[in-house]
Amino acid sequence: MPLMKDVVIVGAGHGAGQVVSTLVQKKYHGRITLIGDEPWHPYQRPPLSKKYLAGDMSAERLYLKPKSFYNPAVIDVKLDTRVIAIDPIAHSVTTSGDDTVPYNKLVLATGSRPRLLDVSGIDLEGIHYLRNIDDVDKIREGMSAGSKITIVGAGYIGLEVAAVAVSLGLNVSVIEMQDRVMGRAVSPKLSDFYQQVHRDHGVNLVLGAGVNAFVGDGRVEGVVLSTGKTLPADIVVIGVGIVPNVELAEESGLETANGIVVDEHCRTSDSDIYAIGDCTFHPNALLGCNLRLESVHNALEQAKTAANNICGEDDAYSQIPWFWSDQYNLKLQIFGLSKGYDQIVVRGEPNQHSFAFLYLRGGVLISIDAVNRPRDFVQSRALIATGAKVAADKLADVNIQLKDLLL
Ligand code: FAD
Repeated sequence: MPLMKDVVIVGAGHGAGQVVSTLVQKKYHGRITLIGDEPWHPYQRPPLSKKYLAGDMSAERLYLKPKSFYNPAVIDVKLDTRVIAIDPIAHSVTTSGDDTVPYNKLVLATGSRPRLLDVSGIDLEGIHYLRNIDDVDKIREGMSAGSKITIVGAGYIGLEVAAVAVSLGLNVSVIEMQDRVMGRAVSPKLSDFYQQVHRDHGVNLVLGAGVNAFVGDGRVEGVVLSTGKTLPADIVVIGVGIVPNVELAEESGLETANGIVVDEHCRTSDSDIYAIGDCTFHPNALLGCNLRLESVHNALEQAKTAANNICGEDDAYSQIPWFWSDQYNLKLQIFGLSKGYDQIVVRGEPNQHSFAFLYLRGGVLISIDAVNRPRDFVQSRALIATGAKVAADKLADVNIQLKDLLL
């Protein structure tokens, strides 16, 4: 029988790590069980396609907390262990080790997995997806200077890998089905800028082309494009999006729709089960819509909301999304969603790689893409959060600090 305070967390990724931290910080009196199917304690994924891939960061620094933080007297950590079933009536989960673990409150932090490509030759050696530490270690082994890397997908991860590969001296090709890079996430204007940057660094960027097959004798040697052309390749990295891990929730009868459906308290359709992070489809009152996000900020904030509510508070998730990407010497920071804008204001100098695109709808600032402009990024957040109208000419004037435009 679960004690009144048993919390079980499924998944030991970024969001799960924050749930544990918040519960510990609030001195939660109860047993906490963290069950993850990877062999590592909770770690951060963003460096995997950035500094860790470049060899500029050790594996030890990826961890959210040192292993000593997980005091066995308070937290039972089960790694390399998958939760294979939930029994919402009995309030228990079953693990791949055939254990039954009771819960009073359950948190699903199952994240997402790479979308797989279903084309001939996909099983050849040298073809990789990128989601965890092992993936990167294998990719690194194949990234020797002078070799040819083809990256399938020009989203954030694909482009970050491209930038690292350039810095390591590889010949880099990027294939993208859409007619622009980062097409799901950023405006065409920002895509244009990044396309030019990658081409300036010598990347062979092929837009509007898919992959028909991979060819090679045991190991990949070429990528056959939908245009009929074959690109020679020694190594391939595929980054064509992710799929939320919702199957466990679905099988236990929880509501799903492009993710596990949760309310603003991060509660699923079963009030004793919370869900957080990449796997959730959640309401955002500030944006007036339901959405699924693939971002650290969302995972951390939902984790805090769920943990606060488990501790008996009445906490509602209410956040404007933000995200970042590092490519070459460019730090891109995005706050808000630029969808539905009717005006873009340019602040700073794109040619000098220090600028911000500010997106307005009906005169209201709704989002910013800041490139090497951390101060504008920070100061714009309050402006965006207030939802007030802002004069475009003032936003464009770099002699005026954005914080001074706050009423
Ligand atoms: P995850 O961190 O993915 O954790 C989920 C865990 O649950 C996984 O370990 C999974 O294996 C495990 N799991 C799933 N099902 C089960 C089960 N049944 N039983 C046990 N365990 C299970 N975001 C940013 O904001 N900025 C960035 O720059 C950025 N860069 C990224 C770069 C890379 C290479 C990747 C892969 C992601 C990046 N992200 C970035 C996204 C960010 O890492 C995710 O949004 C974040 O990790 C989501 O946290 P999560 O806890 O929801 O899921």
